[in-house]
Amino acid sequence: MSTPFAETEVRADLRGVIDNVFRTYDATYWRELERGNLYPEKFVEALTETGLLGALVPEEYGGLGLNMGDASVVLEQINRNGGNSGPIHAQMYIMGTVLRHGSEEQKEKYLPGIASGAIRLQSFAVTEPTTGTDTTQLKTTAVRDGDSYVVNGQKVWISRVQHTDLMLLLARTTPKDKVEKRSDGLSVFLIDLRTLDGVTVNPIRTMVNHETNEVFFDNTRIPASSLVGEEGKGFRYILDGMNAERLMVAAECIGDGRWFIDKVSRYASERIVFDRPIGANQGVQFPIARAHINIEAADLMRWRGCDKFDAGLDCGSEANMAKLLASEASWEAANCALQYHGGFGMAEEYDVERKFRETRLYQIAPISTNMILSYVGQHVLGLPRSY
Ligand SMILES: Cc1cc2nc3c(=O)[nH]c(=O)nc-3n(C[C@H](O)[C@H](O)[C@H](O)COP(=O)(O)OP(=O)(O)OC[C@H]3O[C@@H](n4cnc5c(N)ncnc54)[C@H](O)[C@@H]3O)c2cc1C
Repeated sequence: MSTPFAETEVRADLRGVIDNVFRTYDATYWRELERGNLYPEKFVEALTETGLLGALVPEEYGGLGLNMGDASVVLEQINRNGGNSGPIHAQMYIMGTVLRHGSEEQKEKYLPGIASGAIRLQSFAVTEPTTGTDTTQLKTTAVRDGDSYVVNGQKVWISRVQHTDLMLLLARTTPKDKVEKRSDGLSVFLIDLRTLDGVTVNPIRTMVNHETNEVFFDNTRIPASSLVGEEGKGFRYILDGMNAERLMVAAECIGDGRWFIDKVSRYASERIVFDRPIGANQGVQFPIARAHINIEAADLMRWRGCDKFDAGLDCGSEANMAKLLASEASWEAANCALQYHGGFGMAEEYDVERKFRETRLYQIAPISTNMILSYVGQHVLGLPRSY
């Protein structure tokens, strides 16, 4: 396993590529997007041209064949530059479900396009309004009918639906009362939204500029060939992809945290009040130092998780802990940045209030803090099951 000082030459190059993209798509660009609640289409195009969105796609399917640690650096560096990787992160990792469990035909059909960016797979439809985090209770059904499945149900908070071609959908294929375990009977489908009837998408406006939606399936007919892996095993396939997601989100939070710390350290060194820089006061300096320490500590767990993932070892506990630690550390740094910018922290032109809102999301989605605590309590520490 590599040391936590995981800065390889490849990773330094990746950071350089992202920094270069940000010479064009700087803070002004992100501010403008936010005003119009717009998707960063041009930024995504520029990133697509670098090939980095195909970082995790194996070379045989046209991707870069990099590892999880490398890919996490890409997302970290986007946030480290003051951008938001939320609009694109899923293009990098949700294809992992197809890679690990899809048929050779599905891989050959889709992965090269996903790697080049010609096809976007950036929507992942799991959450439902009436069941929330209790995923195995979800109510969307997919019923086999000849060469098709007919899908009915409602999903909520489904991100990037308006900027994707394909979607991974989790639906129940065997009724709950006909399966032994509640996690059985759920299936994953890779569906092509460009070809479907009976899908209604209603955008939800949120406190951040993030395209997310309600999605209704009304007798939507999907080809039987869109089933990924075996029918009824979908919940396991989804869980399988979650460690990658947790690690990627942890890296994004580390990127946010470092951006906040840089920003507030600079400001606290320059802002003179009572004839001295505010950062000379320990009441200002210590909380910033503490937030920095917590980010660096969270980063160690992120690397431990990435290293285990890349070594093919079970990294469930590290991935979950990294996500919890990093999302809390970035929020602590966000609070420092807002507080020590004084009134200017509230001003749009400093970008602090925007990133403050953006980083707050990560304690709720893609998984809320309580669910991680519960995972660690039950699965790592062996405490009694609570739900
Ligand atoms: C901007 C945004 C984008 C999203 N994108 C996607 C997406 O692309 N695809 C997708 O499928 N989902 C997406 N989500 C959904 C997200 O994963 C869920 O919102 C999140 O998992 C929490 O589910 P919920 O909102 O239903 O909360 P609930 O399940 O209603 O829970 C509410 C709160 O209660 C706590 N809680 C519930 N039960 C317990 C318990 N037993 N013990 C302790 N605490 C408990 C939870 O931790 C949470 O804090 C997104 C959400 C947001 C806000």
